[in-house]
Amino acid sequence: MKKVLIANRGEIAVRIIRACKEMGIQTVAVYSVADRDSLHVTLADEAVCIGGARSSESYLKMENIISAAVNTGADAVHPGFGFLSENSVFSKLCADCDITFIGPSGAVIDNMGNKAKAKSMMIEAGVSVVPGSDGTVTLEEGLIVAREIGYPVLIKASSGGGGKGMRIAHTESEFSGGYKAAALEAMNSFGDDAMYIEKFIVNPKHIEFQILADSFGNVVHLGERDCSVQRRNQKILEEAPSSSLTDEQRKEMGEASVKAAKFVNYCNAGTIEYVVTDDKYYFIEMNTRIQVEHPVTEMITGVDLIKEQIKIASGKPLGFTQEDITFNGHSIEARINAEDPKMNFRPSPGEITALHVPGGFGIRFDSAVYTGYKISPFYDSMVGKLIVHGKTRKEAISKMRRALEELIIDGITDNTKLLYLILHNPEFVKGKFNTGFIEKYIDSLLDYR
Ligand code: ADP
Ligand code: ADP
Ligand code: MG
Repeated sequence: MKKVLIANRGEIAVRIIRACKEMGIQTVAVYSVADRDSLHVTLADEAVCIGGARSSESYLKMENIISAAVNTGADAVHPGFGFLSENSVFSKLCADCDITFIGPSGAVIDNMGNKAKAKSMMIEAGVSVVPGSDGTVTLEEGLIVAREIGYPVLIKASSGGGGKGMRIAHTESEFSGGYKAAALEAMNSFGDDAMYIEKFIVNPKHIEFQILADSFGNVVHLGERDCSVQRRNQKILEEAPSSSLTDEQRKEMGEASVKAAKFVNYCNAGTIEYVVTDDKYYFIEMNTRIQVEHPVTEMITGVDLIKEQIKIASGKPLGFTQEDITFNGHSIEARINAEDPKMNFRPSPGEITALHVPGGFGIRFDSAVYTGYKISPFYDSMVGKLIVHGKTRKEAISKMRRALEELIIDGITDNTKLLYLILHNPEFVKGKFNTGFIEKYIDSLLDYR
């Protein structure tokens, strides 16, 4: 692989460019007219404007991206996360144009990217899944399934992602309204309103396993990430390892994840997500791409996941076995969002007038912002990720508190104070939290000036 086009923007585009540079690979950035002054454009060897500010006019325009790749002679495309990363049509289009898609094949994305289908595949593979409908259902069919499995139920979009397209129904009277609202949101966000139903597990942990699979059928897992700190089903803070898994559970879930990946002939990096109760775990979905929170796994394993993705896509076998993977210390990631938690988390775009990035032993800041950078209202509000690594969870917490104290982003409103209060919450510190954590403590977490 000599030249990679990065079909993304923001911090993940920068992250991928950095890995390519270290590997001696040329890079091509693509950008919308709103992103002319972005860091990924400056850092890449070449940059091509692919259209208007709206994602639908640029970062989602497959033809424009493929032409940019052909015109610049790129032999591979890295899709990052979001945008076209889980789009099987795009993966196939790259293959048709003799461009390596750094991710799984279109056929695998078709199977696992559709959440209802993925669940059926996992049942076949013998992996435990959340009880629910057999595939997608109409409103009327869904009502029958909900009655069978019992309320509360979760109504989920088969194409959903980023926490969108799902609603809880606590009772039958909430079902119809919830179904319609979730389907409408899914149609607007993903152009697909196919829905499925599953049992709503009350206050579980969200625990996911990182997988790497090469094109020779070798599959390893790189342990778990605990992403239970969520607001409206969207992750805010992630860590590895999880303080609530026993070694036995870790081994069992790790093996189940490898089995799942092998069953679907998975290739490249992927993540298997589970909801976990005290004694059970249930598959919820697989993300067939690199994830936002991949750095916490990198910090405790020493494996550069983006470089591994590139090596796998170049046809190289994995350079290690399961036994070679060892875990060192504890890592936490906090998502830095340009938003105002006190104003119902409304996005806060604008110019960064001053920036101070924390540093020191065990601190990493993955971002695309700089002083004078204007955060655009057109895209996701996540502007960076603060990642720490310590010998123990306790040390990682101390480092994250210290790093958040140092971080200064002037000119916009961000969520660092909320993150700081999470790091001081006694239940969080004890490791006693689940996906209901933010809602339970929201008043105290917003109690800052
Ligand atoms: P992760 O699973 O890596 O933790 P998130 O769920 O936070 O990631 O999503 C990462 C980014 O990708 C966000 O910008 C989110 O809005 C976007 N995203 C995730 N899934 C989809 C999808 N199916 N379609 C469009 N965008 C998505
Ligand atoms: P997305 O594609 O948007 O990431 P997921 O299916 O991964 O959607 O669900 C997002 C979050 O919603 C999970 O991390 C979890 O907190 C919650 N969730 C999903 N399914 C269930 C369930 N059956 N019971 C309880 N919580 C769930
Ligand atoms: Mg998910």
